[in-house]
Amino acid sequence: MSKVYDVIIIGAGPAGLSAGIYAGRARLSTLIIEKEKDGGQIVLTSEVENYPGCLEGESGPTLVDRMAEQAKHFGAEKVYDEIIEVNLEGKEKVLKGKKGEYLGKTVIVATGATSRPIGCPGEKTFTGKGVSYCATCDGAFFEDFEVYVVGGGDTAVEEALYLTKFARKVSIIHRRNELRAAKSIQDKAKANPKIDFIWDSVVKEIKGDGIVDTMIIENVKTGELTEVKADEDDGTFGIFVFIGYVPKTKIFEDMLELQKGYIVTDENMNTNIEGVYAAGDIRVKSLRQVVTAAADGAIAAVQAEKYLEQ
Ligand code: NAP
Repeated sequence: MSKVYDVIIIGAGPAGLSAGIYAGRARLSTLIIEKEKDGGQIVLTSEVENYPGCLEGESGPTLVDRMAEQAKHFGAEKVYDEIIEVNLEGKEKVLKGKKGEYLGKTVIVATGATSRPIGCPGEKTFTGKGVSYCATCDGAFFEDFEVYVVGGGDTAVEEALYLTKFARKVSIIHRRNELRAAKSIQDKAKANPKIDFIWDSVVKEIKGDGIVDTMIIENVKTGELTEVKADEDDGTFGIFVFIGYVPKTKIFEDMLELQKGYIVTDENMNTNIEGVYAAGDIRVKSLRQVVTAAADGAIAAVQAEKYLEQ
């Protein structure tokens, strides 16, 4: 018979790992289930500037590695599997994965979110062939090339700054004429001689021959279409897309209360089902940051502990 864990955590990003640290430390039998790679969105971040205690040079992957080590140290087990079906009703929660079935008395959902695609023709075809959602992973491929960053939020502008380490020119394409990013980040970007801005514009199509060599941009105010072609010597350019995230809640749709795809919780991370909690970017909240994800994970684990004591 399968082991019944006190706590099963789905997702090994900062929320899930923090929950793992707290649950493990409370001596609860704890299992973290991760689909592919620890860390969630933060591993795509080249520099974490605002998590307390992180000094210059701390990257998403290094921070996450330490969190994972800490969860392991406190006894949280981990498996790599993709959960495809859940039954969260009843005292024993059943999670079906592609590789196995897992049983838990409580479940903490920390599945996070995935990068939002532009949705234009050619985007899928050229993903990994010029189109990227991760500057840390792919920036180095564009050493001395031109790159375009799509988006105007904190992620887009921070990653544009990071990409100036490699690219000879970085153009930020934003659908409005002012950025959403924090003022301090904007100031850095505006002062960087390698960065310029293409305002009021969206990407309509991406084309190429094996790799990206052309992009069509539309000015949303005038409707004017501009064809951006790769420099002849380069033959290609990069398109980095940072236009927000889509929550990973598909498998919970019929069970958990959602709002615009995000899980509704109270301030103690309780969902509408007893013994089921949500933590991190996956839940309805006002600030999606590593620090708030870690806090959510801690609260969820402590709530699970209290529920089990009852
Ligand atoms: P975000 O704040 O939601 O910004 C998304 C950007 O993409 C916005 O500028 C938006 O334009 C644009 N956009 C959305 N859909 C689009 C579409 N279909 N086509 C073109 N543009 C589109 O996302 P984010 O920058 O990834 O940040 C997510 C969260 O993480 C935020 O809360 C952010 O503050 C936080 N974050 C913080 C830091 C930091 O503090 N250092 C770093 C990274 C992320 P509009 O502005 O016109 O809506």
